[in-house]
Amino acid sequence: MPANEPWYRTSRRWGQTNLVEIDPERYDDAWWRRYWRDTRIDGVIVNAGGIVAYYPSEFELHHRAVGISEQNDLYGRIVASARDEGLAVVARMDSNRVAEDFFIAHPEWMARDADGEPYRAADKWITCVNSGYYNDYLLQVLAEITRRSAPDGFADNSWAGLPRDRICYCENCARIFREAKGSPLPAQIDWSDPTYRDWVRWNYDRRVEIWELNNKATQAAGGEHCIWMGMLSGDQKHAANRFNDQRRILRGSPFAMLDHQFRWFGESFHQNAEAGKRIHELVGWDAVMPESMPMYSLGRPAFRVAAMPKAEAQLWSANGFAGGIQPWWHHIGSHHEDRRQYSTAPEIFQWHEKNEDVLFDRTPVADVGVVWSTDNTDFFGRDQIEERTASPYRGAITALVQAGLTYVPVHADDIHTTASRFSVLLLPNVGAMGDAQLEAVREFHAAGGSVVATGETSLFTEDGERRDDYGLADVLGVTAGESTHGDWRGTDVNMETAGNHTYLRLLPARNSDGGGTDVKVRRPARHSALDGFDDTDIVPFGGYLRESRVLDGFETLATFIPRFPIYPPETSWMSTPETSIPALVVSERGESRTVMVLADLDRCGDRDQQPDARALLARVVRWAIGEESKVSAKTPGGVAVNAYAQPGRTIVHLTNSLATTNLAARQDHLYPVGPIEVRITRPEPASAVKSAALRVAEAAATAKEDGDAIVVTVDVVKAHEVVVIDWA
Ligand SMILES: [Zn+2]
Repeated sequence: MPANEPWYRTSRRWGQTNLVEIDPERYDDAWWRRYWRDTRIDGVIVNAGGIVAYYPSEFELHHRAVGISEQNDLYGRIVASARDEGLAVVARMDSNRVAEDFFIAHPEWMARDADGEPYRAADKWITCVNSGYYNDYLLQVLAEITRRSAPDGFADNSWAGLPRDRICYCENCARIFREAKGSPLPAQIDWSDPTYRDWVRWNYDRRVEIWELNNKATQAAGGEHCIWMGMLSGDQKHAANRFNDQRRILRGSPFAMLDHQFRWFGESFHQNAEAGKRIHELVGWDAVMPESMPMYSLGRPAFRVAAMPKAEAQLWSANGFAGGIQPWWHHIGSHHEDRRQYSTAPEIFQWHEKNEDVLFDRTPVADVGVVWSTDNTDFFGRDQIEERTASPYRGAITALVQAGLTYVPVHADDIHTTASRFSVLLLPNVGAMGDAQLEAVREFHAAGGSVVATGETSLFTEDGERRDDYGLADVLGVTAGESTHGDWRGTDVNMETAGNHTYLRLLPARNSDGGGTDVKVRRPARHSALDGFDDTDIVPFGGYLRESRVLDGFETLATFIPRFPIYPPETSWMSTPETSIPALVVSERGESRTVMVLADLDRCGDRDQQPDARALLARVVRWAIGEESKVSAKTPGGVAVNAYAQPGRTIVHLTNSLATTNLAARQDHLYPVGPIEVRITRPEPASAVKSAALRVAEAAATAKEDGDAIVVTVDVVKAHEVVVIDWA
């Protein structure tokens, strides 16, 4: 890389000793410098100020850590050591709460509820993002830190203020909102009230403003490369809760720091690759994007000073690398009695350093673009993001991963510029879509792209208001009715009521002889989108479906079978074995294939972990891809495939995503998975394989020719393997 590149381009591995208040009296500088070297980091994140100051700040109300004085400037000492080691320095802030003395001095800067009472968290007071605390005080603190120590940049932990479930009624908010929107603040959270929706959008705007305001301040004080960054979550729900429109925020940022330290309940490790790819699409694939990785036992419950199981950290980081994430170790406090936490990072970071040539300067290669958007999360998800939007999205991703398919998340506003990279766009219950987004999907389809949509995709506007019909009715071949079946909010698993005991019927019938053994019976062929389901006419469903009418020229491949009793078993027979209610509708015109999955197979695949739901969804996506898959894999399950291109080179990450513990951060063992057969279509203008290598096993691989493609078999993956093909 060129020597004159700014720090945020060249600093690829990061470390953070997240100081606690007693650290000024016990920090062991020599020990940490050795650890920096062992872990090959290029930059450190050092606690500077905010809630607690680790330097002798001139601001009287800037609460100092224990022992901080003119003679003991811990922050300053660590910065000096880092400079001595040739490391970049990011000064860390954590600024949204203040102690009592601050509250008494500046009551006008506090966030307040409808009764005018200040919002509190534990023994602190929460400051308002529209107050002088953000507009004036913090900017002065940033300037002071720059004057004292000239850090390369800044990061802030809790920069985004109150979450969306709490409205601030302080005088600043009331005045500024009225000036901007012409009305008083919304009286309560009510998604059907346009004023509340205005308030939500106004809050998003303010976070973008804060980002720009802080950058202006740090760049003015420290030069053009002294950038400020708020920590960003890799979780869509969390980002929405904090009004982080990452697409807008990252448009002008050359770097992103992810605070996305662990998977949530029920999630697997491949989610970290998903987050990495989703956010790289926004910040750019040339940007460095480190993610904080706890070396302590995070999860629920969390243990701040106990070691994270090594396997959990290995699997989370390996899946992060597969999504273009860079490593950043994170310890809480500078002194530890559980020293096992120091044994995890060196191996991970040393591998990363050794393999930089295949981890940077690359672009993703995938067959499927999976559509998401902030508006969909907010205005369709509303107060039920988990059930309405997060679960279907996660279910769709998991279905693709389990089937060995490759995907990249695509923001709905970027379809018009990026979708041509994919042969299929998958829209997992993207209910809220604006007209421009609909038009972009239509153009993609008209240009020969294939579209797979699920659930109630396109039935609502960007504000979440119901449209008369699916906005993509013409593309998907269905027109919306009013009746619905099942419940998207959850599943009635009571044996006595069995509200979820529903099925889908695959057409035409092949097994209606009900288990007859006469193999000479001629069974009708099915559409190839249903390949793999030959031996059944039904699949379990249990989900939600809106009755819709199928347009001419489109074919129904599956219908809905309404509920019938589970208990007692004598009653368990289909009273209505057949209906004409469509569940799965396809069409093929030229190169374009469309699938409307009216049944919410994505949500069922996630919530109910239903293997048939995942397999059927993945199968129709596979059919929509057609014969020309760029990269795919046959796996025994539990391995995610992610691929990248460099000039003359294809890079395929195979990551173990097998979580044997559903609780986050509790995986204490690596279970090797294999064999995995990777199929790579030869990219133009490559002719033959020059070399094939496995970067984790540090061995050569065998690439077998298979028509336009090559096939590489990897016997076993522990945490991960990276297959690198150099083309002749
Ligand atoms: Zn306020």
